[in-house]
Amino acid sequence: MVPKSHPRYSSLKIRDRIVAGVKKGITSEHGLLAHGRGEAFDYMIGEKTNAKAKQQIKKAAILLKKANHPVISVNGNVAALVPKQLVQLSKAIPAPLEVNIFHPSKAREKAIAKHLKKHGAREVLLPNTGKIKYIESNRRFCNKEGQAKADVIFVPLEDGDRCEALIKMKKKVITIDLNEKSRTAKKATITIVDNVIRAMPLLIKELKN
Ligand code: ATP
Repeated sequence: MVPKSHPRYSSLKIRDRIVAGVKKGITSEHGLLAHGRGEAFDYMIGEKTNAKAKQQIKKAAILLKKANHPVISVNGNVAALVPKQLVQLSKAIPAPLEVNIFHPSKAREKAIAKHLKKHGAREVLLPNTGKIKYIESNRRFCNKEGQAKADVIFVPLEDGDRCEALIKMKKKVITIDLNEKSRTAKKATITIVDNVIRAMPLLIKELKN
């Protein structure tokens, strides 16, 4: 047990969530590495939401509210870190939640959907015959009523290839990524450089306003 007085208490508790996600079959082992990269960037920005991120959150809320068919894309890391907030966001916009993971696993897709439902989601879309053009990874499969039709896609922790493909398909992409130099951060329509743990509650608050 980590004592609350530990200087890295909150960072260690977040790690616990990711590790629990792997144990529950929600997060991939590779997700641990992606999390480590995020942690390093978070350390560098002082583990605080900066003024620029707050501005981007406001812009993201406006774009999500104006969208005709917004969709929230969920991977194994965000499902483990912020399941309750994903459901709250889905209700606040409103927009469906859709599972989209990089490392192919039908079992993990189902586990993520089950986890989101446990946190209050009514419906969770899974990839079916919908396709994202221009990419070859497992993430090209999507739901034909979800991301295939979407005009605005909110994808916390996106991978660069898919972000680029979605933009080429003339969709607007909102991402949260601690690495401002990632391809995703550079390509997305709106990039929020912050930890999903901090940015998600702020985005929900903004939408409710
Ligand atoms: P690129 O966009 O350049 O293709 P990548 O796909 O190689 O990047 P991944 O290995 O998928 O990047 O890593 C995921 C990204 O998510 C990293 O840039 C990392 O900084 C970021 N990240 C990890 N955890 C968090 C978090 N909790 N909040 C926000 N961003 C995070």
